[in-house]
Amino acid sequence: AIILGIESSCDETAAALVGSDRRILAHRLAGQEAAHRPFGGVVPELAARAHVEMATPLVEAALADAGLKLSDVDAIAATAGPGLIGGVMVGLMTGKALAHAAGKPLIAVNHLEGHALSPRLADPDLQFPYLLLLASGGHCQLLLVRGVGDYSRLATTIDDAAGEAFDKTAKLLGLGFPGGPAVEAAAREGDPKAVKLPRPLVGTAEPHFSFAGLKSAVLRARDAGIHKPADIAASFQQAVVDCLIDRTRRAIERADGATALVVAGGVAANEAVRRALSRLAADNGLRFVAPPLWLCTDNGAMIAWAGAERFAAGLTDGMETPARARWPLDPNAEKARGAGV
Ligand code: ATP
Ligand code: MG
Ligand code: FE
Repeated sequence: AIILGIESSCDETAAALVGSDRRILAHRLAGQEAAHRPFGGVVPELAARAHVEMATPLVEAALADAGLKLSDVDAIAATAGPGLIGGVMVGLMTGKALAHAAGKPLIAVNHLEGHALSPRLADPDLQFPYLLLLASGGHCQLLLVRGVGDYSRLATTIDDAAGEAFDKTAKLLGLGFPGGPAVEAAAREGDPKAVKLPRPLVGTAEPHFSFAGLKSAVLRARDAGIHKPADIAASFQQAVVDCLIDRTRRAIERADGATALVVAGGVAANEAVRRALSRLAADNGLRFVAPPLWLCTDNGAMIAWAGAERFAAGLTDGMETPARARWPLDPNAEKARGAGV
């Protein structure tokens, strides 16, 4: 089957055509960095307007790239949440309109499921169950991925997401926007041992994350005026890596049946993070799987692929499906631990 995927939950509009045989027939992406840069972060209303302008042209461009017509597509997948609600509504409505016009099934994809299943698009040998570190701009979670739509959350962040910590650190150090790649580039020029920073929650029994204290420590280090920004960036990145590794090591003990350690989400594009996780996996007799860099940050192919996995499982959605700002992958964990954690 051939699936059209549409993504619009944050600040990239994207459309892709992916086959259930894992062939990526086309993928188009329009970032909005220039629009948001003056504000140092994503402005929801600006994002929604940009999605309105870009969604249809990107779908048309992807179809043209692949040499396909809408009638050649078997189903239309669109992100239905979680994310900035204006943007999610634009992408989902675009998907609904196309599905209705072409008489094709609609698949409402959870953006987090897009990240969670993207490693299986890149690696045909990756089988369920696997332990997933999902580290992105809005989330930092450890999940046991048992199958399509079957996720157990082992841990989450009690405050900021990992990507959010990178973004805030970049802002504090004046490294620019978007923050993750800027901090990584600066860190390459710095000494990771130069600044003493905390490792919040490291050593605790539950594998949860916390990054807010780290951000405050970066602020204090900056204001102390002793260290170069590159040294602070390198020390910050090392602290994040140490936290991710310690927490993931805990979760490995609880990941019943998993044969692979998998990382996804924007922070998975970070080389230091990938290298450390790869070593952790090897030490624990697990395969390590990380998608190529472009599949880690938001894109249309991961939504099309999650759509392909759901389509193969016979899961399609009705036109009444709502756009959702919040949409946990494991609703039981959310209920058990209360709001936020
Ligand atoms: P979510 O998926 O939780 O809804 P999102 O879609 O905004 O959030 P992604 O696109 O998956 O997030 O990832 C973007 C985040 O990844 C940003 O916080 C960004 O700083 C971070 N990021 C991107 N590249 C890197 C990198 N090389 N190193 C560290 N962080 C990075
Ligand atoms: Mg983005
Ligand atoms: Fe994302």
